[in-house]
Amino acid sequence: MSKRDEFTRGQKRNYLRLNAAKVHRRWPAEFGGKADHYMCENCGFVHDNRQYFQVDHIFPCAAGGRATRFNQQDYRQILAGDVALLYQLGDNAMVLCRGCNGAKKDKMFIPEDRGYAYRSPFREMDRNPDHIYYGGAAR
Ligand SMILES: [Zn+2]
Repeated sequence: MSKRDEFTRGQKRNYLRLNAAKVHRRWPAEFGGKADHYMCENCGFVHDNRQYFQVDHIFPCAAGGRATRFNQQDYRQILAGDVALLYQLGDNAMVLCRGCNGAKKDKMFIPEDRGYAYRSPFREMDRNPDHIYYGGAAR
């Protein structure tokens, strides 16, 4: 198993800021003028408690995914036509709730119904307007 290439604190902060900005843009009426809210990019769980979320590697470290840092060797390989490397090194981050991230681990895909949007007591705390309007995340 390859060594995990963790995101720096600065990278995590930036990804969370971007995530909060997307939530704000998507539901301006609900979240305008309020504290930052974050959304799990898998199950859609929305909350303002940052502790419920983690920045995860889309392409797992176990499969060679990295924390989005290129070096000269990487550039040479990509320019030589290694498209897989480009995807591994590209924007390899997503914001997940702890439920989805815990279920994902080193896999490429996240098992269904493990996200906070589907699990009590978090399901009842979910502030995703689409989930609220439609009576909770679809099952
Ligand atoms: Zn989730």
